[in-house]
Amino acid sequence: MAPFTRIFIREASHVIIRHTTMTRSSLSIPVSPLSGRLKRQLREAGAYAVGYAPLREVDPTVMDNYISWIAEDRHGGLAYLEHNTEIRRNPALLLDGGNDPRTGGTIISMAFPYYSGNPYRPGKLKIARYALGDDYHEVLRRRLTPVARWLTEETGLEARICVDTAPILERYWAREAGIGFIGRNHQLIVPGAGPCFFLAEIVTRVELPPDDPCRLTCGDCLACVKGCPSNALSHDRKPSPDRPHTGFDCRRCHSYLTIEHRGDFPDDFKPRPLALYGCDLCLESCPHFRNSPHPAPLPEFMPREPLLNLTPDYILSLTPPAYNLLLRHSPIKRAKLDGLLRNCRRVIPDPIKNA
Ligand code: SF4
Ligand code: SF4
Repeated sequence: MAPFTRIFIREASHVIIRHTTMTRSSLSIPVSPLSGRLKRQLREAGAYAVGYAPLREVDPTVMDNYISWIAEDRHGGLAYLEHNTEIRRNPALLLDGGNDPRTGGTIISMAFPYYSGNPYRPGKLKIARYALGDDYHEVLRRRLTPVARWLTEETGLEARICVDTAPILERYWAREAGIGFIGRNHQLIVPGAGPCFFLAEIVTRVELPPDDPCRLTCGDCLACVKGCPSNALSHDRKPSPDRPHTGFDCRRCHSYLTIEHRGDFPDDFKPRPLALYGCDLCLESCPHFRNSPHPAPLPEFMPREPLLNLTPDYILSLTPPAYNLLLRHSPIKRAKLDGLLRNCRRVIPDPIKNA
């Protein structure tokens, strides 16, 4: 999935599962067997990778980088990223109604596979892979809710599901939980399995034995930086686990522009022909994408047949009811009908435009 999609989905909704009769201090059951059972259940729910990170404040260097990135306006029009900084810094505030800043507990990080091969057809409009199936917000919440409920029943403690909707630095926590590292392309890369994963978290006061953080980096590779058509990625040659990336500028990113941006495109935007929604170029140029045996996607993320056959004429003829029917439970609705029409007018190849 393209860089912004993991960062920039609106923080709109969440699931909180509470148990009101026990208190935080009442957790005295042994957690190790629980830890194993929980991981097993999460894998049965579809997670390819699961890891535990201690619930504590974000490393100050990482937080400073995030705040600088916002101050430099690299987040474009995504104003909601400017808000809830204290919660981002201290995810304990996601629990207890935001009333208890004390750390302690666990961030359970999970990665769910969506790679479905190379399903694209010549002459048809192209949609980023992550968006060809059902909306991952709905799918993952549905899959995780029974597990979070079970965890609460077992422990009496809150378990909050976050699926790209809460103010939490999810790739940072995925790395802290040991399930992967953050590439220069701003994706979480799962070693040996590639970058095509949706992330989700369960934040809880339950203390679980932490996994070792993933300390890998991109090293000297710059393939995604060179593969980006609009110089949206950093040339920083010295990534480290605490400074894995610094320079992603979503104002230049085709994914951001075709999905999140509202209104006219910037004058210097040069879309690729037929690239209707999103951009996977920095994924496709990554050696971890090209050389990893991608795990099979969850069935819900298999491409929908109609989305593989879209033509400019069809998109330009969409009425609101037809749009709603085509994109029911699809993440593509994020761009809205106006956005899709705008994109389509710009990505029609010249020979068709001039015919
Ligand atoms: S424009 Fe660049 S950074 Fe954005 S998704 Fe495409 S390759 Fe990646
Ligand atoms: S292409 Fe290279 S630099 Fe970019 S994310 Fe992949 S390994 Fe890292």
